[in-house]
Amino acid sequence: MTERSDTGHVSPDEVPPNDVDVVIIGSGAAGLGAALAARARGARRVLVAEAEGVVGGSSRLSGGLIMGAGTRYQRAQGIQDDAASLYHDYLQLNRWDVDAAVVKRFTELAGPTVEWLGDLGVEFHEQLVFGGDERVPRVHVPIGRGQGIVDVLHGRCRAADVDVALGRRVDRLLVEGGRVTGVAVGDDEIRSGAVVIASGGFGNSAERLAEHFPSAASTGEAWYIGAEGSRGDALDLGAQVEAQTTGHDRGLRLLHTGIDRIYEAYIPGWLVLVDADGRRFCDETAPYGMMDHLMRMHGNRAWAICDHGTLVEATASGTARYKQTIPGSSKRQSPHWTTDVMELMLTAGRARRAATIEDLAFALDMDAAVLRGTIDRYNAGAGAHDDAEFAKHHTFLEPLREGPFYAVEMRPSTVCFTAYGLRIDRDAQVLSLASRPIPGLFAAGECTGGVVGAQYVGSGNSYANITVFGRIAGEQAAAFAIRSSR
Ligand SMILES: Cc1cc2nc3c(=O)[nH]c(=O)nc-3n(C[C@H](O)[C@H](O)[C@H](O)COP(=O)(O)OP(=O)(O)OC[C@H]3O[C@@H](n4cnc5c(N)ncnc54)[C@H](O)[C@@H]3O)c2cc1C
Repeated sequence: MTERSDTGHVSPDEVPPNDVDVVIIGSGAAGLGAALAARARGARRVLVAEAEGVVGGSSRLSGGLIMGAGTRYQRAQGIQDDAASLYHDYLQLNRWDVDAAVVKRFTELAGPTVEWLGDLGVEFHEQLVFGGDERVPRVHVPIGRGQGIVDVLHGRCRAADVDVALGRRVDRLLVEGGRVTGVAVGDDEIRSGAVVIASGGFGNSAERLAEHFPSAASTGEAWYIGAEGSRGDALDLGAQVEAQTTGHDRGLRLLHTGIDRIYEAYIPGWLVLVDADGRRFCDETAPYGMMDHLMRMHGNRAWAICDHGTLVEATASGTARYKQTIPGSSKRQSPHWTTDVMELMLTAGRARRAATIEDLAFALDMDAAVLRGTIDRYNAGAGAHDDAEFAKHHTFLEPLREGPFYAVEMRPSTVCFTAYGLRIDRDAQVLSLASRPIPGLFAAGECTGGVVGAQYVGSGNSYANITVFGRIAGEQAAAFAIRSSR
């Protein structure tokens, strides 16, 4: 244990040697990437402290889809793209309401970081996918999903002699003279030249969701699909050193039927989504980042409508018919849109069934003429293979012909990840309330705010954030530790 004066200051000749050069809190892709980058930048002793009994956090549960522009993988497919286009799209979609200099670095390094992962041994499917509204595909799909990336990073960490300590939930930063000098787990203190917080989000804490992601909590049935360890510890650790936070009410919510705890990233394209008034409000095949925003604009509650015949066909076909096809996972049955599950939803009160559209409107407390008009217009579009309202691709336009008709209540209650957290600068330094870097403290990944904006730009937005800033945080932390040890 370090001897400290009453003021917390330690005189230079009393300073004991560091136990390690860099401590990283959390073993998700942000933390493991930071560890590797710290070693590559010259840190000799790097320790990753992980609260849980398993390496990888939400990163291992994740699809691992990762956004990046101008990569060799894109070039191999003849896709022309560059970081400037990604930056432009990112700012436009977020209406500039992000930390632009931080985002600039992010978009510049997203492509090179995908390639860095590839150099380390991560394998990607040849086919790239669209993640949101980009003009060319820029989302890279790892073979083996997020677990595949975590396995590669973890293997590289082992080879680089990075220590990973499981079951070590950091509950305190060591701070001396305003500088972060280590971490503590209970009475066990570890001194280090620099600390990287990479402890993930707070989806697993109902209290934190209510406070910092209210549009998720207010669905009344928020259900988090990430890792146990996502409790928002970074917010407590940051508060200890008066760190600034940003990104209130940001994250990603997916539509859910509320019937079970199986998440479905997209809804099948043949469903018709209407708001509480009975009006369509979007192309039902919209990317999930866009759908989250659309749901905010339309009261966070919608009804997915279909007829019996289409449901029976969909069940028999055995495929979900999502618009977005992800290599390795697209040809499968929807977990919710089958005749069996519909019966369960009816029993559970999540769905209504009626012989006519007018009866369905009555059951949903809607104006029957409005819902009738919506369905008539939709059916006309289906007949003409042309959705005159929302331009949904004609292959998904199935007319609602004959009863019984079904309506299932949908809320954006599946919480994928959270995006409120510690404010960092473009070098991943955690900023104080006075917007100054807190010496010795760096952060990366889902525990930070300011990179992921109000608009989730698309699949791969979060994984690109965590890996880009994981690398930066590791490099900068190592450089800081080396500088300050001289
Ligand atoms: C099912 C699912 C699918 C997803 N799919 C995608 C996708 O395809 N593409 C995409 O971009 N995003 C996706 N996301 C989001 C993305 O995967 C996560 O935002 C990202 O992996 C978080 O990485 P991280 O390293 O910041 O945190 P994590 O991977 O969650 O790691 C943080 C680690 O810190 C540990 N920890 C927490 N507190 C402490 C403490 N006090 N002391 C020590 N350790 C601590 C945790 O236990 C955890 O292991 C998905 C998320 C989920 C849940």
